[in-house]
Amino acid sequence: MPSRPVIVWFRDDLRLRDHPALAAAVASGRPVVALYVLDEASPGVRPLGAAARWWLDRSLAALAETLAGLGVPLVLRRGPASIVVGAVVEATDAAAVHWNRRYGGPEVAIDRDLKADLRRRGIEAHSFHGNVLFEPPAVRTGSGGSYRVFTAFWRACLAGPAPRSPLPMPTRPTPFAGGGDGDRLIDWGLRPSAPDWSGGLAESWVPGEAGALAGLDRFLDHGLARYGEERDRPDLDGVSRLSPHLRFGEISPFTVWAAVRARVVDTPEAAGSAEKFLSEIGWREFAHHLLFHAPDMASRNLQPRFDALPWRDDPAFLAAWGRGRTGQPLVDAGLRQLWRTGWMHNRVRMVAASFLVKHGLVDWRAGEAWFWDTLVDACPANNPMGWQWVAGTGADAAPFFRIFNPVAQSEKFDPDGAYVRRWVPELAGLPTKALHAPWTAAPGVLAAAGVRLDETYPRPIVEHGFARARALAAFERTARSP
Ligand code: FAD
Repeated sequence: MPSRPVIVWFRDDLRLRDHPALAAAVASGRPVVALYVLDEASPGVRPLGAAARWWLDRSLAALAETLAGLGVPLVLRRGPASIVVGAVVEATDAAAVHWNRRYGGPEVAIDRDLKADLRRRGIEAHSFHGNVLFEPPAVRTGSGGSYRVFTAFWRACLAGPAPRSPLPMPTRPTPFAGGGDGDRLIDWGLRPSAPDWSGGLAESWVPGEAGALAGLDRFLDHGLARYGEERDRPDLDGVSRLSPHLRFGEISPFTVWAAVRARVVDTPEAAGSAEKFLSEIGWREFAHHLLFHAPDMASRNLQPRFDALPWRDDPAFLAAWGRGRTGQPLVDAGLRQLWRTGWMHNRVRMVAASFLVKHGLVDWRAGEAWFWDTLVDACPANNPMGWQWVAGTGADAAPFFRIFNPVAQSEKFDPDGAYVRRWVPELAGLPTKALHAPWTAAPGVLAAAGVRLDETYPRPIVEHGFARARALAAFERTARSP
């Protein structure tokens, strides 16, 4: 039995099932060192936001527990990844390092340099395909370029070989005695304190692989068949809520894909729902494709013609938006759901983001940063893609002249007002029609529900017709200017 260990470097893949890097390490017969590095120091790496740090804390605790069940301790280290991994290699006299690939610019550079350095030192370095179904460099247009349009991208993906079957959880890794000293998770301070605002997050989520698998099962049994119909309804439990689990790799897209494909769908409606759901997984793939080819997409318009947009610097607008005090009930409900639970329904993300960017003419990067800090699923690929899609500055984005009317969206997608009532309780007593637009309600209706405009709930921070015309003028002028 070879005694020099192999290090499995866990990153955004905090799971044991379908973990190719771990599976190969175990298959090598070498003892396994499990390592996680909190890297906030390498050049260009974007530090996690507060809600994602909370999630990471819980997820690492869950991973450590599952690994401990197999007799393998999780070694925690902090610092620039290439230095830290190199140090652990030395401390353990490791023969090899394994990891699953990632696709952000700084991360690709770290991994490439580390691989070269390890190989120079005679240490094996193996990277694996585990975190997206279709790796960005492998999906090419006919002329060898990258895709900018989702439908063409997804068609190309589906035309290739089908995603492989997920790998089982390894049963018997050989633990390594002397994996080196690690940090204590608690000392990383990932959990908020003074004040601890994470109560709503803890009520809403079970981070970790077991929580991810339970979430998938629940969705397959209760959500998938009606996904096509209900996915746009924030008042219903119609979506999977797998996003933070996928973000941290507690479940692999291969596992999700295979589980959906294995479901017997016995009606055309259910079959359509399954395809729709898989195409949303496809949007996640597309986001990673875009990020790989435009590593700075969180800071730069994918369409440079919009670089001259006359954004307004309006901290009061941004603050009212972030706190859910815009006077538009659906927007406010979304921002409050986000603040409390670290997640917002996709339909409401679109309406809320549009309100900031179009109604407020506030730079999409300010909203992206707020989501980055508050979402438990804050993703370096999906988040900037979502914001640029809404702003109209992105690849395959909504056309810039699409401006969501928050009242119409509320009436259509929260028809009984249950979502708004839940998250904006000071409006709960209003009849549904008035709930979507309280400033239009008769004084008697407001009084009967205990609503006093500008006291218990604000009037709209900006008038829809005015804001729409202002945004259209600004976007049109910029789009047309040479
Ligand atoms: P489901 O509808 O059940 O979809 C299943 C999975 O498919 C999701 O978990 C997600 O991984 C993927 N997915 C679904 N919709 C999209 C989409 N539009 N784009 C990319 N992937 C998608 N998603 C994130 O994971 N992280 C983010 O930081 C993020 N920021 C966003 C910001 C804005 C402004 C917008 C409009 C969307 C953003 N999204 C983001 C995409 C989407 O809103 C979420 O993925 C979805 O709401 C998560 O809920 P779910 O897991 O129940 O999704």
